[in-house]
Amino acid sequence: MVAEDGGARRGVLKTPHGDVETPLFMPVATKGTVKAVPPNLLEDACVTALISNALHLYLRPGVDVVERHGGIHRFMNFHGAIFTDSGGFQMLREGFLLGVREEGILFRSPYDGSRHLITPARSREMQARLGSDVAMALDHCPHYSHDRRLMEKAVERTLEWAVEFIDAMPRGSQMLFGIVQGGVFEDLRERCASALAEMDFDGYGIGGLSIGETREEMLRALQASLSHLPEEKPRYFMGLGSPPEILEAVAMGVDIFDSVYPTRNGRHATALTSEGRLDLRKGRYAGDMRPIEEGCDCYACRNFTRAYIRHLISEDEILAKTLVSVHNIRFLTSLMERTREAIEEGRFEELRKEFAGWK
Ligand SMILES: [Zn+2]
Repeated sequence: MVAEDGGARRGVLKTPHGDVETPLFMPVATKGTVKAVPPNLLEDACVTALISNALHLYLRPGVDVVERHGGIHRFMNFHGAIFTDSGGFQMLREGFLLGVREEGILFRSPYDGSRHLITPARSREMQARLGSDVAMALDHCPHYSHDRRLMEKAVERTLEWAVEFIDAMPRGSQMLFGIVQGGVFEDLRERCASALAEMDFDGYGIGGLSIGETREEMLRALQASLSHLPEEKPRYFMGLGSPPEILEAVAMGVDIFDSVYPTRNGRHATALTSEGRLDLRKGRYAGDMRPIEEGCDCYACRNFTRAYIRHLISEDEILAKTLVSVHNIRFLTSLMERTREAIEEGRFEELRKEFAGWK
């Protein structure tokens, strides 16, 4: 950690593919691509890290194909840090989950119906072979629920699997992150976090949030998780992307975020700006000669007007998805730059207030 401002932390994550400044936002490249955005434009948008998904790549095209390229960085031609998620989160995805066993998660491939038992050891091996910089532990991530027994069971499994995940093979240069579960139950979050804190992880994900719980439930569960994690290790809120929520979590001591928020909005013609979200389909932009956002240094804003992008959207041209996604990603990486500066200069609270009403 290099600076603090209240609960907010400013740090550096040292990965085999470079030092990554935190607080950090990562775009999502589930299937080995950030949807509609080529890697040179990710670099142009100051993306230093992204997260892909080991289970998806294992099902298609197969780990061996990625391995033949020399690993995931060469496979997708992205040279920054790459996290891989284990597949635990796919429990929530329609068409994937067959059941949870003591020894792992039984998935059905949505592509060909084949069955795959993903154990912690298997997930660890898969991620090592993919060659990501950070491998996320296999966790048991249930749907949002107030069923305490289900959540207790999920925490017990997550903890057992965390041990198996670490012990599965000798440690190389790949970093390993545990994942805190426990749903909206504060005591379960605390139990999970303190048990994981005893294990030899390089950092910690906070999982199973932002999946339907209320904002208050989310903040309480987050606080309970954070208060039992070691100060000196990075904390990663999995799946949070809206600017006010990110800043709120930064204020509580979270360092890393990922979300499909910028790209999903981008593909639906919604631009993130300092004024809030703009629906670029609207007729009022048809003759608008300004960039998406004045002063933005992204590829889209440097080169194109709102009128042009709106024209592409009306014609259903795929370039529109690329341009708006690129801008949205840059909006978030730039917000994180401002966050890091504000923490260093002791005025993070000011920045947080600026975005409090953003929507
Ligand atoms: Zn822009």
